[in-house]
Amino acid sequence: MFTVMRSVWEVFVLMFISVFSKSVEAKHTARMSLPVEGHCLSWRLAVEANNARAWRSIPIQCLFYVENYMLGGQYERDVNVVVQQIYQYMADMVPGEDGKDAWILDVDDTCLSNLCYYQGKRYGLDPFDPAAFKKWAMRASCPAIPAVLGLFQRLVESGFKVFLLTGRDDETLGTATIENLENQGFVGYERIILRKSEYRGKGAVFFKSEIRKQLNADGYRIRGNVGDQWSDLQGDFVGDRTFKIPNAMYFVP
Ligand SMILES: [Mg+2]
Repeated sequence: MFTVMRSVWEVFVLMFISVFSKSVEAKHTARMSLPVEGHCLSWRLAVEANNARAWRSIPIQCLFYVENYMLGGQYERDVNVVVQQIYQYMADMVPGEDGKDAWILDVDDTCLSNLCYYQGKRYGLDPFDPAAFKKWAMRASCPAIPAVLGLFQRLVESGFKVFLLTGRDDETLGTATIENLENQGFVGYERIILRKSEYRGKGAVFFKSEIRKQLNADGYRIRGNVGDQWSDLQGDFVGDRTFKIPNAMYFVP
C-alpha cells in the first residue's frame, strides 16, 4: 500500500515539474522575442511621430513584426482610431453654403491600399521598384481602405468638397487611378489632382503645397487633410487639421 501511494506521489511530482518547466520555457521564449518586438514597436512609433525620416526600407529584423502588424489586425485598428478622431473633429462642422469648405485626401495607402503589392516586396524591406509599382497601379485593382472609404462618403454626403491629391503621374497613371477609385466606391469627389509633368522630379511637399496654394487662391478653405505620409501633411496651406494614416512599409520624401 505504501509503495503504491509513493508511486502516485512520484507521478504527481513529475507531472508538476513537467507543467512548471513548460510554463517557464514559454515565458522565457516570450521574453526572448520581446527585445526585437519592442525595438520594432519603437521604430514604428518613431515613423508615425515623424522622428524617423528618409528611411529607405523597413529594418530587416522587423520584417515579421511589420507583416504581423499589417495582417494581424493592429494596422486596421490604428486606421480606425484615426478615422474616429476625424469624425470627432468634424462632428460640429457644417460646410458653408458657398461650397468652399474642402477636405484633401491622399490616394495611395490612404484611400486605396497597396498592401497586396507590398506583400510581394516583403512589406517594404525590398527597395522601391518604380516599374513594378507602375505595373501594379495600372491594374486598377487596389482595394479601398474600408474606414477611409466610409470617411470619404460621409464627407461627400455632408456637403464638403473632397479633393484627391496624389503624387501619381497624371499622364501614365491618370486613367487607371480614376478607374480604380471608381471601382472601389470613391464617387462624388470634386476633383482628382495627379502629378503633371511640370512637377515631375519635385518632392511631395513642394508639389502638394503648390496645389493647396492654388486651391486656397480659388477660395477653398481646407478644413482637413488626410494622408499616410508626413509629406502629405507638411509645407504650405496644410489645412486646419491634418490626420496621419499609419504606414509602416515605406517613406515618401
Ligand atoms: Mg499615400
